Amino acid sequence: MSSDPRDQILAFGTAITEGAADTPGLDDWRSLPITQAPSWADREDYEAAVAELSTVPPLVFAGEVDVLRTRLAAVARGEAFLLQGGDCAETFAGSTANRISARVKTILQMSAVLTYGASMPVVKMGRIAGQFAKPRSSDTETRDGVTLPSFRGEIVNGYEFTEEARRHDARRMVRAYHTAASTLNLVRAFTQGGFADLRSVHQWNQGFMANPAYAQYEELAAEIDRAVRFMDAAGVDFEAMRRTEFYSAHEALLLDYERALTRVDSRSGDPYATSAHFLWIGERTRDVAGAHVDYLSRVRNPIGVKLGPTTTAADALELAEKLDPEREPGRLTFITRMGAGVIRDVLPGIVEGVRDAGVQPVWVTDPMHGNTVTAANGYKTRRFEDVMDEVSGFFEVHRALGTHPGGMHVELTGDDVAECLGGSEPVNEADFDARYETLCDPRLNHQQSLEMAFAVTDALSH
Ligand code: PEP
Ligand code: MN
Repeated sequence: MSSDPRDQILAFGTAITEGAADTPGLDDWRSLPITQAPSWADREDYEAAVAELSTVPPLVFAGEVDVLRTRLAAVARGEAFLLQGGDCAETFAGSTANRISARVKTILQMSAVLTYGASMPVVKMGRIAGQFAKPRSSDTETRDGVTLPSFRGEIVNGYEFTEEARRHDARRMVRAYHTAASTLNLVRAFTQGGFADLRSVHQWNQGFMANPAYAQYEELAAEIDRAVRFMDAAGVDFEAMRRTEFYSAHEALLLDYERALTRVDSRSGDPYATSAHFLWIGERTRDVAGAHVDYLSRVRNPIGVKLGPTTTAADALELAEKLDPEREPGRLTFITRMGAGVIRDVLPGIVEGVRDAGVQPVWVTDPMHGNTVTAANGYKTRRFEDVMDEVSGFFEVHRALGTHPGGMHVELTGDDVAECLGGSEPVNEADFDARYETLCDPRLNHQQSLEMAFAVTDALSH
């Protein structure tokens, strides 16, 4: 058999068996402390949903997940960069072809900027095809004297502020699965069917030349075109460029959903979460003795953990011990989300402690979640300059310690929304009323995302 793991996918593409019922430990999480779990309104609906999800086809294959692990191992070694991007909370209504393609295009554009500018391979990953469950700081929300359960993402309840919409409806898990399946199908078609061809870099630019980030992108696209024409003249085979690997990821918050979609790989007998290639554990559910960490310790997928500003090096090491006891290259990613004001103070101790213990995770910056503020007009927002300042702090800390600043994790959209303040064609608070669309956290819009990619390219190549 070929040693290229990509060639092995075909060999066992259908080899995942259903159920995983007898795998020891897979249900231990049920007796551990759990936070952020829904209280399903109807037991029968719950049982029917779980039974259905336990027999549906997997969304991803074990072989793809294994390839991703090898890609992430390269990132951990400093040979590649990881770009994770997408919605804070996907929605069913927002899972349209246009919106999915705009998001994928944005990630492809950012990745072209990074790959070309920093001469480094980029592992591309969406917060997509399953990013439906949201942790909340409060179980309830009160508006005008009325208190209802908080919105927990469309996989649990509806956004509309009514008792009916806010009830925890397990049937939504099945809808989430089908929405994820059709989303991933389109992502696969885009990235395997020629749309991601590097010769299309120009066509991905949906913007106007007046915007500084778009103008800079046009220049870069022209340079890539020239390089491509040169290679064409020199007889390079472009077949490999027609396709790109693109991985799916979401927060593994809803363990009912994750457990029901776990399958055993018949090659190895190992369980894989087949809801996405990569799963991460959120800042609020990373208790090392809790249900979420336990469950994810038992599946073979590469796992991320968000680390907020109160994390200690000891916490990170305990997580590494539990999630990656074998120190397997590419298995563990730490996604730090500290806040621009503190990253330079708190990140060094964590990175040093982990490095000195001989653990080599992928280090990723999430410059969004530590920088959320409330605007004067009440909108939840983030300032582009704070986001970029956290990215700079991340690079400074890793450069100083000799570790690899391995990637970034960004909430973004391909649409022209106004949710984060600033950027070179600045979004102002007055724009929110007309163009603020997110149901959860504010996302960078298309031009802010490109601008970030250019800035990160500078940091990566110096
Ligand atoms: C998120 O990624 O949307 C999120 C809730 O992040 P965190 O767990 O870092 O707060
Ligand atoms: Mn978020």
